[in-house]
This record gives sequence, structure tokens and C-alpha cells, in this order.
Amino acid sequence: MNPPDRQPRPAGAVAPRILMMRLRSLMAEGRSLDGRLAGVVSLVARSFVADVCSIYLRLENGDFELVATEGLKPEAVKRTRLARNEGLVGLVSSEARPQNIQNAPHHPRFSYRPETGEDPYTSFLGVPILRFGRVIGVLAVQNIVSRVYDEEDVETLQTIAMVLAEVVTTESQSGSEELADVAVRPNRPIELIGQSLSEGLAMGPVHLHDPVVAPAQFFARDISGEEKRLRSGLEQLRSFVDTMMISPIAGESRDILETYRMLAHDPSWAGRLFDAVSSGLSAEAAVDRARREHRARLQSATDSYLRDRLHDLEDLDNRLLRMLAGKENDFLQMDHDGAILVARRLGPADLLEYRNAGLKALVLEDESTTSHAVIVARALGLPLIGGVDRIMAVVENGDQAIVDGDTGHIHIRPEPDLVAVYRDRLAMRSQRLAEFAAIRDLPAVTEDGVKVELLMNAGLQIDVDNLDASGAEGIGLFRTEFQFLVSETLPSLGEQEDFYRRVIDTAGDRPVLFRTLDLGSDKILRNTRPNREENPALGWRSLRFALDKPGLFRRQLRALARAAGDHDLCVMFPLVTTPEEFRRAKAMLLKEVEWSRTQGHAVPKNVKVGAMIETPAFAMSFHELEGEIDFLSIGTNDLHQYFFAADRDNRQLSNRYALLSKPFLFFLQDICRRANEIGIPVSICGEAAGNPIFAQVFALLGFRRLSMPAPGVGPVKKAIRKLDLEAKKVEFFERLNENSADLEKVLLNLLKHGDQV
Ligand code: PEP
Ligand code: MG
Repeated sequence: MNPPDRQPRPAGAVAPRILMMRLRSLMAEGRSLDGRLAGVVSLVARSFVADVCSIYLRLENGDFELVATEGLKPEAVKRTRLARNEGLVGLVSSEARPQNIQNAPHHPRFSYRPETGEDPYTSFLGVPILRFGRVIGVLAVQNIVSRVYDEEDVETLQTIAMVLAEVVTTESQSGSEELADVAVRPNRPIELIGQSLSEGLAMGPVHLHDPVVAPAQFFARDISGEEKRLRSGLEQLRSFVDTMMISPIAGESRDILETYRMLAHDPSWAGRLFDAVSSGLSAEAAVDRARREHRARLQSATDSYLRDRLHDLEDLDNRLLRMLAGKENDFLQMDHDGAILVARRLGPADLLEYRNAGLKALVLEDESTTSHAVIVARALGLPLIGGVDRIMAVVENGDQAIVDGDTGHIHIRPEPDLVAVYRDRLAMRSQRLAEFAAIRDLPAVTEDGVKVELLMNAGLQIDVDNLDASGAEGIGLFRTEFQFLVSETLPSLGEQEDFYRRVIDTAGDRPVLFRTLDLGSDKILRNTRPNREENPALGWRSLRFALDKPGLFRRQLRALARAAGDHDLCVMFPLVTTPEEFRRAKAMLLKEVEWSRTQGHAVPKNVKVGAMIETPAFAMSFHELEGEIDFLSIGTNDLHQYFFAADRDNRQLSNRYALLSKPFLFFLQDICRRANEIGIPVSICGEAAGNPIFAQVFALLGFRRLSMPAPGVGPVKKAIRKLDLEAKKVEFFERLNENSADLEKVLLNLLKHGDQV
């Protein structure tokens, strides 16, 4: 709704600045809360020349109660209740935006309450009373005659609503009896569901990333002094944003930053802030008013471009608020031990900053920007749930929460019964973790003596630091693109070399299989403009991309060759589709090793070159590389998606095609058999290998080397050590051949052992 342009002020109406002064004196009078609310409605009615001014507050059950009125029947106060979406008050609440209505009784949402005597009022202007973007009440004015409330009226009423929000919050925090039933702070238990992006379980107090700093004072004591503060705050903010632009960022990220900078320099945003100050607000209160408005609009916006801009604006409001309050860095210095971090969105660098903060879990409101946070969260072993719609509106700093990263559920302010259930689950988990720790240094050998080599997947230094604790025998998949994904700029040759050397040194004599850059599709570099592709997963990605970018690819291969020094070097290429692609990539690698030798660098004693089987085409043609290839590793994440033509990141499809299905398992078995026949070692390195039952299935199919996320190593080791391979094999293949409609269930029953953690 766009408010109409400025209208001539009705006779007797008071300028906003005078109204603010009066409001300030009223608040300072030391009356009871009811007295102050009554004072506000009477002051507003007079100043607006309105026939009615009313305040409604939201109750615990979501209804609204009339708590103060000037103009409606006084006996309706604390008696009239409207259901959460009832009437025009309900409309203001559900839209979380001002509603300016000229013919109220004819509005489809008008609800007639005879006890209020509301029927003769034609014009209605209602604004939400907001706290952290949540509507906790509604402030409304009404006139008998048809009246057009203008933009200034709307803004003034919003400012008063902001003051009311603060008054009500402060009173409720001090335990005011008058607000016993009012839902100021969300306090009911809420269960939300999002997408589980990193598994695990956690319980603890919520810490909001980017918390909102409440203004220390609302009214300007000295308007020109406040204008000066606002001006210098804006200058500080703008120079901060301008400095961000200096970093060497190209492509889409730069466009995003440019837009951010334009918003920071937008004269209309600043103009509105100065208007608010000149109407009598403090600089912080002026910014806070803008922030509330942006937040409220964000909650109802569906267009993604608009949402992004509103996010930016809200971010700027927040930053400016912190700068004005001198609290820019407070949050990172806070104690987060045991906390659950809740954020709208989070960049990879943000999360790395928290790495030593003792966080227990992470919950993100936005879905779109989670992929980098996922990588880091997994490396840190933190449960992560993304795409949790509206969590920021229902949670506050310090609320207790349970994050179930296995199912994607978040329980906010859980009931004691639920807390008890999760306490038990957490205790069981720690008990199991202790069991896994006890077998950490034992080999994964089945009951009947068959050895299965267990390796871990890694991609960041923090993963590699976990190698000892994981009980893995080495690193079976090192995702080199992670270094690129979490850094602001493209890592140089030297940076890559240093990083790989550190990885090799940490692993010592344990093997590390470096997988070359696997970019594209879901792994987009921060600072590049992704090609617009109809089907990115089927597009210009991974090895295809690397072969077409020889400069980039060669630099990585050179870094690997140099980093290995005189150690062995194992390199594998992702998403190989044809034998020829493998040959080209291998030739480039060997050339780099040779080049390093001629340049006087120590070169690897042994260079082992392998390929990932992730496409059905390569699964059917790798045998052509007999004698040229040293090893194979099946990436079940991608192979599964290409086998079933089902996007691995599409939530609608994620559980539709079971990995434990007859065609896929026979396909895997066939790959294993054919690789064994020509003597090429073959492993599995997708996420599935970290599931104890899946790992048993892979062992039954003939695989003897599995690489998995570090937390899977303990449970898988335990499962393998309990497996009587030869004895189970007969029954397993019988079941597999039975054509069961739900093979997964059948196999889970056959192999289940309750060791999921
Ligand atoms: C896979 O596809 O299974 C794999 C291990 O590679 P990524 O998950 O990195 O694509
Ligand atoms: Mg893959």
C-alpha cells in the first residue's frame, strides 16, 4: 500500500515534532502502564484530530485485546477481543504493514463489534506494533468523516507504535501485572522444520547472528545534535561499505556489492532518517524505525529480488544502529559456548570466524545461500538446518532450542517432556561415541576376517585435523574445491601448494587422495558469474570445466606436484565421462610433475592417478583404461543422481529413489566385479559410505575400501566388525533377487543393528 501524497493538515492537527515532545513528557510522567496507554490514545486522537484512537495488544493465544481507547466505548477496554485475523486489526497484523482504508465499514475484512460503538467510523488507519518483526499489537486511528491519512500521518503513527513497542516490552520484562496475558516475547513452544544439511543433535540457548541493538533512547533531546550523530554514523557506514568494494572481487558478487553500496548512498533512505530525527526521534530510533519497516516488508515479500534488497536494507539499518551505539564488534566477542547460532544467512567466512566459539549447531532462515555454510558446518561437525522459514521472527536471543539435524526439526522453547526425550537421545549418542572411540585404533575387519579399509572425506584444514580422532586410515576423498569455495579470491599457486603440503604433512604416512577441482553445478565460486545453464548438474562443470580452463587447472596440478615433494602423490579426477577426458587430464598432471622436476623441485616418488565414477557412461567404459589408470572411486552422490535422473539437491526428490534399490545395487556390484577383473582397485566415496547399513551393503557387494564423512567412520567400523560377511551374503542376495517393492526396508531389517548416532 502506498500512502497518498501529503494532504493539507486538518484544522487543529499538531505537527509531528510537537507530538513527539508531548509524547516524551507523557512517558516521563511516571504513570502506570494503563495510565500511559490511555494518555497516548488521548494525545494521538487530539493531535491527529481523530475521532478514535485505540491500542490492541496480542494475547498468548494470538487474539488481540483492546487495551486503551479514546473514542470507542470505555467499557470495551479489556473486554473486546478480536481473533488473530479478524477485522481490520487482524489485517494490519497479518500483513504486518500499515493499512490506510477510506471506507472501512465496506471493507471485506471489517468486523462489527457492537460493544465498541464502532459503526459510524468511515476512515481507518492502523499500524502494527512490532518487536523484532513480530506483530505484538496494533495502533489505530479512525474518523467519522471520510478522510485521507497521508504519508506523514502513517509515519508518525508508526513512530508512536515503535515507542509503544518499547514501553510494552520494558514493562513486560519487569513482570507487569497489567501485561500478564500479553504475548510480548514469544514464549510458546514452536516446532519448525527445515532442510537437514548437516546431521547431529544439539540443545542449547539461541544466539542470533547479527543481533538487533535496541536504541538506548527514543526521543531527541537536542535535534541538531542527533542530526550530527546521524550524519557521522552514515559517513562511517558509507566509508565501511566503500572499503568493502576495494577488495578484488569480480562478477556477480561485485554486482551485489555495488547494489549494496548504492543503497547505502541512497539519498531517499538517508532523507527519511533525517526526517524522523527532525520530527523528534533520536538518531538510533530513526534508524530503528526504518529497520522495523524493512523487516516487516521482508516478511511479506515473495519476490526474490525485492527480498534481497530488503535484506540489504535491513543489514544496513542494523550496521548503522550498531555503529551509532558503538557496538560494532560486540557480538563476535560474546561467549557462545554451547550456543545454537541462528542467522538469516551466513557467509563461509562468517562461520569460520565462529570456529573456536564452541557453537553446538546452526540454523539458517534462507535456503539459497547455505551451500558454503554447509561445507564449513560439516567440517566443524555442527548440525545444520537450512531454509527454516520465519525463524527469525519467532526466536529471541537466549531462547532454549533443540536442533535435530537428522530430521530437520527445530524445537524452540521446548516443553520439559521433550527436553527429557532429547536429553536421553544426547546421552545415548555420547555413550555410542565413547564406544566408537574405544575401537578407534582397531581395524575394520568383519567377523569372518575380511578387511575393509575405512578412509575419511575432507576438504578443509579443520577436517584434516580430525584425522587422528576419526579412526580413519587416511583421506579417501580430498575435495580441493573447498579451499576455493571458502575464500574471497582465487587461491594463488603458492596458497594452494602450502595448503596441500599441510594436508600431506598432517596425514603423515596415511594416504591422501586429492580430487582435482570439482566446480560448477552446486559448487559455485563466490566471485565468478556462473554461466546461466538450463541444467547446471548436466552442464559445464567439474573436469569438463577444468579441461576448458587449462590455466586454472594447470596451476592446481602444479601446486599438487610441488606440495607432494618426495612423498607419493595420489590424484583423481571428478566426473570423468569418457576415457579420453581422463587421458587428457592425466597427461596434464604428468607434464606438471615433469616440469617441476626440470625446475629443480623435489617430485613425488610415485604418482597414482585415478578417476571418479560418477557418470553411467564412465561406469560402462572405464575398462578401456586398463593399464593407464591406477584406481577408481565411485561418487555415489552424483552417480545416484545421474542413474535415476534425479537432482541430488531437489528436496522433492531427495527420498524418492532409494540408493538401496535393486537396479542401483546391481549396477554397483557390476562396476566392482569388472574393476576387480582387470585389477583396478575401486572404492566408494559418496556420503552413503558413512551410513553403517549402507557400508555393510557395499561390503556385501564386494567393496573393500570406503571413504566417508569423518563422523561416519566410528559407526561404520563398528558395523563392519559385527558383520559375518560370508554368512550374510547368501541371505542378502536372496533378498536382492526377490523383487521386493521396498527393498530398502527389507535390507534395513536384515542388517539393522541400532547403531545410528
Ligand atoms: C559424489 O558425487 O559422490 C562425490 C563424492 O563428490 P561430491 O559430493 O563432491 O560431488
Ligand atoms: Mg561428485
